[in-house]
Amino acid sequence: MSLRDVDEEVYDITIVGGGPVGLFATFYSGIRNMKTKLIEALPHLGGQLSTLYPDKYIRDVPGYTKILARDFVKKLEEQAMQFNPTIRLNEKVIALRRLDEKLIELETTRGLHYSKTVLLATGMGAISMKKLGIPSVDRFEGRGVFYAVTDKWAFKGKKVMIVGGGDSAVDWALNLKDVASEVMLVHRRAGFRAQEAKISELFHSNIRVFIPYVVKDAHGTERLEVVTLTNIETGEEITLEIDSLIPQIGYEMNNSFYKSWGLDVDERGIKVNEKMETSVPGIFAAGDVASPINSIKLNLITMGLAQAIIAVNCAKNYIEPSAPMFPGYTANLRL
Ligand code: NAP
Repeated sequence: MSLRDVDEEVYDITIVGGGPVGLFATFYSGIRNMKTKLIEALPHLGGQLSTLYPDKYIRDVPGYTKILARDFVKKLEEQAMQFNPTIRLNEKVIALRRLDEKLIELETTRGLHYSKTVLLATGMGAISMKKLGIPSVDRFEGRGVFYAVTDKWAFKGKKVMIVGGGDSAVDWALNLKDVASEVMLVHRRAGFRAQEAKISELFHSNIRVFIPYVVKDAHGTERLEVVTLTNIETGEEITLEIDSLIPQIGYEMNNSFYKSWGLDVDERGIKVNEKMETSVPGIFAAGDVASPINSIKLNLITMGLAQAIIAVNCAKNYIEPSAPMFPGYTANLRL
């Protein structure tokens, strides 16, 4: 499809987002014999796993004690491609329009697509990393200050300081401890948001933990060389020489465009019912972007994968009401 092209072929399901949930949904819709298209805004698949932490181990997907995020993406891609779905990379969906009961038009940065159903698996969507907002730190962004780690080996032999007390910060501290010459973790309070097992590993490791400290200032000539920390209880200041500062203080999500597509949203994402249906018939959502009504929301890969299965089976039933909701067991499939 060239620029501003129209693909007039109508697909059974178009999955928006090529992260783990979108990839698994692509595989699963193949199982249900649905004509499937996957549209991803980035030039590669894998979502957050590929962009934010390809070199991190994931430990909470079934069957693997631990697996590198990049390797897990490879496995998901292999699984998704079995039924020859159409994959569109580098194409961002900018509008969704329901033309009639069984036809949705998707407008992208490159053209138009048509589908009977749509599954939004856009994860955290257009996320941006929260910044520390300290001018002396910001001026070293890319020169010692990094808000995302795409290659952990870039920190080999470096003195690294990580900021934050959530899963991202603790994960990176643990992941870099055997790569960097020294890892320090700075957190503003004694309580952590990260999973308990990781916190325990943190405190049993050689990582230097500074609590309750915040970054006050950064100094250097060409690159970051020194940071000053402040103890938020006593006001005491310490100055440390470091090579790299990696603030991991959360993400910000922009959900405003979903509303303009007519979808009901709340502060957790796009509202969905027990069938993973959004407020617009034929449009489903699963994974981090979905906000299940009256239900717990856990932004975990496995939760998103299960939601993808529900959404795909319900989408199948939506376009073909005689099709059973329960697809049968894959152990009986001949691939
Ligand atoms: P997060 O959970 O929001 O944690 C952000 C941390 O940064 C908090 O500890 C917060 O401190 C601290 N912080 C925020 N603003 C700060 C500031 N201006 N100065 C200093 N510290 C500041 O963010 P996240 O760790 O990126 O995780 C985001 C979501 O992704 C979470 O749901 C997380 O569980 C999930 N995630 C999961 C995994 C995994 O399962 N392997 C990996 C990564 C992320 P306070 O605690 O005091 O507010």
